[in-house]
Amino acid sequence: MSTAKGVVKNIKAPTGTQISCRGWHQEAALRMLMNNLDPDVAEKPDELIVYGGGGKAARNWESYHKIVETLQRLENDETLLVQSGKPVGVFRTHEEAPRVLIANAHLVPKWANWEEFRRLDKMGLTMYGQMTAGSWIYIGTQGILQGTYETFAECARQKFEGTLKGQLVVTAGLGGMGGAQPLAATMNGAAFIGIEVDESRIDRRVETGYCDIKCTNLDEALDKALDAKEKGKPLSIGLLGNVAELLPKMLDRGVIPDVLTDQTSAHDLQLGYIPAGYTLDEAKQKRESEPEGYQSDVLDSMVIHVETMLKMQEEGAVTFDYGNNLRGQVADHRGMEEAFNFPGFVPAFIRPLFCRGSGPFRWAALSGNPEDIYTTDQAVLEAFPEKESLHRWIHKAQEQVQFQGLPSRICWLEYGERAEMGAKFNWLVKEGKVDAPLVIGRDHMDTGSVASPNRETEGMKDGSDAIADWPLLNAMLNTASGASWVSLHHGGGVGIGYSIHAGMVCVADGTEMADERLERVLTNDPGSGVMRHADAGYDEAIKTAQERGVDLPMVE
Ligand code: NAD
Repeated sequence: MSTAKGVVKNIKAPTGTQISCRGWHQEAALRMLMNNLDPDVAEKPDELIVYGGGGKAARNWESYHKIVETLQRLENDETLLVQSGKPVGVFRTHEEAPRVLIANAHLVPKWANWEEFRRLDKMGLTMYGQMTAGSWIYIGTQGILQGTYETFAECARQKFEGTLKGQLVVTAGLGGMGGAQPLAATMNGAAFIGIEVDESRIDRRVETGYCDIKCTNLDEALDKALDAKEKGKPLSIGLLGNVAELLPKMLDRGVIPDVLTDQTSAHDLQLGYIPAGYTLDEAKQKRESEPEGYQSDVLDSMVIHVETMLKMQEEGAVTFDYGNNLRGQVADHRGMEEAFNFPGFVPAFIRPLFCRGSGPFRWAALSGNPEDIYTTDQAVLEAFPEKESLHRWIHKAQEQVQFQGLPSRICWLEYGERAEMGAKFNWLVKEGKVDAPLVIGRDHMDTGSVASPNRETEGMKDGSDAIADWPLLNAMLNTASGASWVSLHHGGGVGIGYSIHAGMVCVADGTEMADERLERVLTNDPGSGVMRHADAGYDEAIKTAQERGVDLPMVE
């Protein structure tokens, strides 16, 4: 239902083979934009917010309608430019060029802080695009599920002999991304408590099968979780309350988690983290009437939260930052440098994967038919019979993941593997094995596409954490390679001032041209990650480049 130019309720992406655009690339962008705002996918669709605090798909409703209209008239040799969620120009390019180029939330470095961003946002001049919100390739909580599953699995391999069975995982934040944690933990065998201040978020995770049960009382949650831990049974509990209040209470009761992390939206001091003692309504009122006082209360709570995490770490909890800049906030605003005594999840668990060009490859079925995803699942399983954990993941996902919006899948694939699957998927479309084209994309949190010193590029071997040339090169390379749409964002994951990152999406429409574009994009995109890590001196990346023939002039 749409009102003339205003809010659209209950957006659903069109499905099937009838298209309203002049080509599948434009149609795919249109459907994926709409899919991002589907109420089954987005966290707050009425406000155009998809996930991650205030991560939006379009600047405002007027821009949304204009993007839709423009995509529908866009020719196959034209490119639409989107500036922070607003469609600003259409230019003649050529058929193999991207149909859409997106830049979100960029500010000149001296001005790149939240205060300036919010001032400009209020004036209607910019938009926070997070990572996949403003680049139209968010696929719901599954998008982060495998990454979270792999992170917990790697943690288990490193610290608990390969399984989290009999271990207690504690975290906070069950939002769009954080909501993957309970299922990822139980898939690894753990007992799990996720503290969440917004009851509707817990209900949503329970309804969609991501979380087993809700508790409103700490003691009840602890009894149940400790009993499950004792029995070695997987159980996930969404515990209603504020982490800055409940985590210290856990410590007082002498309960030390085996694994401890956090996925509140700590990157955003206004929208992302509710201070202790506040209801959601009180928080909303105070952030509007007294934003500075509110921010100070947020930071007070974060200090308590991080102090408690540090104490639990001292008592033996395997503690890590899960990419929300919680450590950076208390270090930068409260001088609490010791927050960095616990590591970020990338140096702790993910970097070796990045060195092999591995990252979160994802795809969606534009037909809307779940069978198409099962067909692609089968193709992945057949392509990599030796990859045991990939097989385990696909089977678990088939059993336990409910699709949100367009049916989709994610799995981490390496350099070489992604191009192989791109060719396979295009063949499936060409041969009519699936009902309609597939879109293939990825998170911006990937091997070659991000500069984020408190997250993906924390503690790089050569000290190049804050060098942001790499994501720019990645975006330009994907544009030159002929992706269907390419995006370059500022501030995703960790907030304004802290990251620059790029995204790409490529459509498999079964044509020969798609074969060529997919081969180039899905080789070069992860190749740029191998390049970035080889350049930083990681042996594994240098070895990958040598074995797979990635041409790096300065790397011997
Ligand atoms: P979200 O805004 O959808 O959810 C955050 C949740 O935290 C909300 O449900 C909110 O109610 C809850 N919360 C806020 N303050 C709380 C408090 N004091 N106590 C308990 N609960 C509280 O965000 P999201 O999409 O789930 O992302 C969470 C964070 O993780 C963001 O900072 C995001 O940038 C980051 N992130 C990490 C990764 C990764 O790969 N690790 C990927 C994407 C996003």
